[in-house]
Amino acid sequence: MTALAPSAITAHPLACLNCGKTHDAPRPAAVCESCLGPLDVVYPADRVLPDRETISARPHALWRYREWLPFVGEPVAATDIGWTPLREAPRVASALGVRRVWLKIDALSSGTLSFKDRVVATAINAVHAFGLDAIACASTGNLANAVAAAAAREGIPAWIFVPEDLEVAKLVGTLVYNPRLVRVRGTYDDVNRLCAQLADEYAWGIANVNLRAYYGEGSKTMAFEIAEQLGWRLPTAVVAPMAGGSLVTKLRKGFGEFLSAGLVQGSSPRVYGAQASGCAPIVRLVERGEGPLIPERPDTIARSLAIGNPADGLAAARILRESGGGAAHVSDDELRDGIRELAALTGVFGETAAGVTYAAAKALAARGALSPDDEVVLCITGNGLKTAESLVHDLKNVPIIAPRLREVAALVS
Ligand SMILES: *Cc1c(COP(=O)(O)O)cnc(C)c1O
Ligand SMILES: [Zn+2]
Repeated sequence: MTALAPSAITAHPLACLNCGKTHDAPRPAAVCESCLGPLDVVYPADRVLPDRETISARPHALWRYREWLPFVGEPVAATDIGWTPLREAPRVASALGVRRVWLKIDALSSGTLSFKDRVVATAINAVHAFGLDAIACASTGNLANAVAAAAAREGIPAWIFVPEDLEVAKLVGTLVYNPRLVRVRGTYDDVNRLCAQLADEYAWGIANVNLRAYYGEGSKTMAFEIAEQLGWRLPTAVVAPMAGGSLVTKLRKGFGEFLSAGLVQGSSPRVYGAQASGCAPIVRLVERGEGPLIPERPDTIARSLAIGNPADGLAAARILRESGGGAAHVSDDELRDGIRELAALTGVFGETAAGVTYAAAKALAARGALSPDDEVVLCITGNGLKTAESLVHDLKNVPIIAPRLREVAALVS
């Protein structure tokens, strides 16, 4: 394998959130080399930020917010990702008993139908910026799809590691792009541990391991788009699913950055995180209120969220609290009902994670966390066609008939 040619794009440096140590020469790193703390991108203090008009005039892609993304220079890959629909859902607002509801529909993301296209857009530009040999990831499914597709588009090698027993569409929807797909006997947490070791062995950019700081910044664009698509306003509350805990953390960061830049006014939305009861280590940490995150062994059909030891779990629990929001977990039966009800009320078929989000929003409304004054955005992060087996039993209620008028007449009467 040959390294990529040096690219016009360069990456901002990283600093440790724990001890403050900065890596002057940006390079792939999973954790701080001094204290093993989490790393974050350092933006130049003197960078010039665009105003609303400048942003509005740019192409409809997440790079319209490029000053808040971790690079200098023009993106060289995934240039057209982002700007997914924000659609108002009045019947959901009635069901929840709140003033207004919108769906942020990353299930229709133009890359591979999930929010992971955002994080891969920044990760693959980091691969270019660092001139790495290949892109890789540890994935619960959607990241695998997004990395494999982005790599195919660029013609660069991809190594994809997943738990062996993912949904068929997540596996086939990765393999079709012809990456090196490897199914690992174990949970996502086993796969992730393996990838942490691989990061030391090979010159690979592992999207959610040694490129994690760059990857995570891509998630902020969901917050930026929500604000701009609402007409440069903020909702009062946002509900999003949690796997590793990165998305909710970056939603809060994104809203905060737009407030500091003066692009929106008011207060930052309350952020609510949703998980499946069969894997809810972050929700349970929020409920306990303090102490360490206690890892869990996942047992849920919400495979995309089945991370028992989430990398950003502590940070996620903290920002949910700080934002004035909270968390809820729902059973697999509730999440199946959530998928059905969301589809029936909006025409949007979300994956299991969307069922979790919708059902959690109902639980939050029922316990009074969402109130009649609220304007709520539900983040629909993945597409239902990828997890169709979750509802396959529903087909048993569908009549099968001979092609005869009287057989239909019997159904109509
Ligand atoms: C990955 C993923 C998320 C959120 O993941 P975080 O690791 O918490 O950022 C949400 N929904 C879907 C469908 C996903 O694939
Ligand atoms: Zn450190």
